[in-house]
Amino acid sequence: MNHTRSHKLFERARQLMPGGVNSPARAFGAVGGEPIVVARGQGAYLWDVDGNRYIDYVGSWGPLILGHAHPAVVAAVEDAAQRGMSFGAPTEAENALAELIIDAVPSIEKVRLVSSGTEATMSAIRLARGFTGRDVIVKFAGNYHGHVDSLLVAAGSSAATLAVPNSPGVTAGTSRDTLVLQYNDVAGLQQAFASHGAQIAGVIFEPIVGNMGVVSPTREFLTALRGLTQQHGALLICDEVMTGFRVAYGGAQQLLGIGPDLTTLGKIVGGGLPVGAYGGHADVMDHVLPAGKVFQAGTLSGNPLAMAAGCATLRALRDQPPYERLEALSARLEAGLRAAAAAARIVHQFARVGSMMTLFFAAEPVTDWPSASRSDTARFARWFWGMLERGVYLPCSQYEALFVSAAHTEADIDATIAAAREAMAQI
Ligand SMILES: *Cc1c(COP(=O)(O)O)cnc(C)c1O
Repeated sequence: MNHTRSHKLFERARQLMPGGVNSPARAFGAVGGEPIVVARGQGAYLWDVDGNRYIDYVGSWGPLILGHAHPAVVAAVEDAAQRGMSFGAPTEAENALAELIIDAVPSIEKVRLVSSGTEATMSAIRLARGFTGRDVIVKFAGNYHGHVDSLLVAAGSSAATLAVPNSPGVTAGTSRDTLVLQYNDVAGLQQAFASHGAQIAGVIFEPIVGNMGVVSPTREFLTALRGLTQQHGALLICDEVMTGFRVAYGGAQQLLGIGPDLTTLGKIVGGGLPVGAYGGHADVMDHVLPAGKVFQAGTLSGNPLAMAAGCATLRALRDQPPYERLEALSARLEAGLRAAAAAARIVHQFARVGSMMTLFFAAEPVTDWPSASRSDTARFARWFWGMLERGVYLPCSQYEALFVSAAHTEADIDATIAAAREAMAQI
């Protein structure tokens, strides 16, 4: 496969942008080498600037559940653009997206629309602190909630120790109010509430983790999360930026029966344009300015083009739900990848919920960050490149989820499995 033009463009990009990119994950750092430079996407496929075609399982890291350039989404955005790009004033389209979200997500009675997942989680934790009058936020190692300062922290040396910053520029003062625990660790959660319960404003978590690879919560963990937060007057913040409209139309909370106080959304809710959202019980949401006193604002919030893309995407998902078909395609892919790995005698774990999945090159079950981090990332890198060379674009890290879209066909899945059999034999 020839990557000459990609190479030239990326060389130039490196002189123009830090690391050549506008977001680090896409730089292929975790697998070594250079990213391909994308020219266009259609349905389940991507083409790079050298004219190579790939079956795409990244889907812009989650938003493109309908595939690239879905006709209804493109038409909605074109139509909106004709009528003006942005007003900074109320529009009917904002009502439409808010209504779709409130109808879809069981625990959301009122919603505020923002422009990214990061903005949604940042605002949700500010609201949790403003609502409760408390400072501490609990998060879990290996869960990612965007690049919010106070959430860019790593676990201290023992459970229930206060967090340490994991990026230069995040102050110790900021991270002091974040408590990092292990995912699925019920005892750790109980201990944290026993010692800090009166200071905890909220617990933020991924209801199905996508950001250390796919990891599911245990029933006991979900029960403890809801029980302990309720008992101690803290808010439960379900970060559904990845899982919302992905694992079910109503998100992981519908699938798993979780009743959070606040929910954050992003990715699919914008249909490929920049949209995030946070919502929950009306009495909590009414603490947000101008109904209440918790400040949060955005010049481009509720942007008409973004609303159009989001509405068109959610209506397509609501009116012709692809979830059963996604499950069937994804199960077929899982079976094929498992068989390919087994045939090559490669130890692995496979985690999948609907159309999000991860093949871990790990010997033991993956339930939290310590077990995820024992994966063989060097082997993952060989797997990634083996698949790319065979025209399959996978997420470029062991710790990301692979996504199947409604645009994929059985033939795409079978071609992917055939590529996997060849690639597995060589890694
Ligand atoms: C992607 C993601 C975010 C951050 O969203 P951005 O739009 O990248 O800021 C937050 N939480 C979760 C669970 C995510 O997957």
